Amino acid sequence: MIQDTIRKFHEAAASPRAQMEKYMAEGKKIVLTAPVYTPEEIIHSMGFVPMGAWGADMELNRAKEYFPAFLCSIVQSILELGIRGAYKGASAIVIPSLCDTLKTLGENWKYAVDDIKFIPMTYPQNRKPDYGIAFTKAGYERVIRDLEELGGKFDPEALKESNKVYNAHNAVMRRVDEALAVHPEITAAERSDIFRSAFFMTKEEHTALCEEFLAELGEAGADAKLGIVVSGILTDAPQLNEIFDDMGMHIVADDVAAQSRQYRTDVPEMDDPLQALAVKFANMDNCSVLYNVKKPRVQWIVDTAKARGAKGVVVVMTKFCDPEEFDYVMIKKACEAADLPLALVEVDRQMVHFEQVRTNLETFRDMLTM
Ligand code: SF4
Repeated sequence: MIQDTIRKFHEAAASPRAQMEKYMAEGKKIVLTAPVYTPEEIIHSMGFVPMGAWGADMELNRAKEYFPAFLCSIVQSILELGIRGAYKGASAIVIPSLCDTLKTLGENWKYAVDDIKFIPMTYPQNRKPDYGIAFTKAGYERVIRDLEELGGKFDPEALKESNKVYNAHNAVMRRVDEALAVHPEITAAERSDIFRSAFFMTKEEHTALCEEFLAELGEAGADAKLGIVVSGILTDAPQLNEIFDDMGMHIVADDVAAQSRQYRTDVPEMDDPLQALAVKFANMDNCSVLYNVKKPRVQWIVDTAKARGAKGVVVVMTKFCDPEEFDYVMIKKACEAADLPLALVEVDRQMVHFEQVRTNLETFRDMLTM
C-alpha cells in the first residue's frame, strides 16, 4: 500500500534520533554529514553509517555563545543540537568548507562539542582543472585518515562498491523526481519526507523504499494543480509545505540543495575509485555553493521550469545565506527574460510564524491563476 510506504518515509524524516539509535543498537557507528556535500561514499565504504546533519527547526540559545546572529540558522541549529546532546553517540561530524558560514562551524564545533570528532573536508574553489581534482582527492585522503583513527578501514574495492550503491541511489532519486512531476496527488509535505528521509536511512534501505514507492505510484494523474519549481537550500519546514499544499501548488521540479541537487551527478567508472569520487565533485554544478563564473544554474532553473510545464518559480531563501543571495538577482533577471513568474519567500530554522510566507504565496497563486 502506497500510504504505508509514505508513512515509512515520514517516520524516518521526522525521527532522525530514532534512526540513529536504531543503527547504534545494531552496533554501527554513525558519522554525521553537514551540508552541502560530503564524501558519503567514503564514510559508507569504511563501515560507518553517514547521517545528514542539516539542523532542526528550533529556538537557538547556546549556539549564540559561538555565532553572531547574522549567520544562517541551519549552521547555528547544527551546533545547538550538538551542544544539547541531540547527536550523542555519533563518532564524528564531517563539515565541508563550501561556504564561509560552514568554515566557522567546524572551528566552533571543536570547542563546543568535544565528544564528537570534527573532520574537515576542504574543497577547492576551482574544482574542475586537474589541480582542483588533485586538491579534492587530497581532502578525501585526509578524511580517510581521520576515519581510520575511529576504527574505519579503507579499501579501494569497498569504495568501488559504495560508489555503486550511491550511484544506484542517485538514479532512483532522479526517477522519483521525474515521477513526482506527474503525480500531483503526492503532496508537497510527502515529497519533502521522501527527500528528507534519505539523510537518515542507509542508502540501501532508502533505495529499496523508493523502488517500492515507484512501483506503487501507478498511472500519472491529471494535474489540476499549479505547477511550480522550488529553489533554495532547504525546504523541509512542515509549515512551508503545508502552505504549498493549501495553495494547490504542485512541485514539478526542485533546485533544492537538500533535495535533487544531491543526486544529479554520479561517480564515473574509473580504475581508481577515490580519483573517480574527486572527478564526480569536479563534474557537479548548478548549485550556489559550487563556484562557476558562468552560473549555469540560472539557466538550468529556467529550462527545467519550461520543460516541466511550471507556471512559476518559488525561491525559498534561507535567511543570511550569502551564496543563495548572490544568485538570486541573476535568477530573477533570467526568469523575467523568460517570462516566468517568480516569487521570493524567506525562511529560517527559528521561524514559528509563517504568515508572511503564506501571504506572499497567496498573492503569487492569485497572480498565476488570474
Ligand atoms: S544555508 Fe547558505 S550560508 Fe548556511 S550553510 Fe548552507 S550555503 Fe552556507
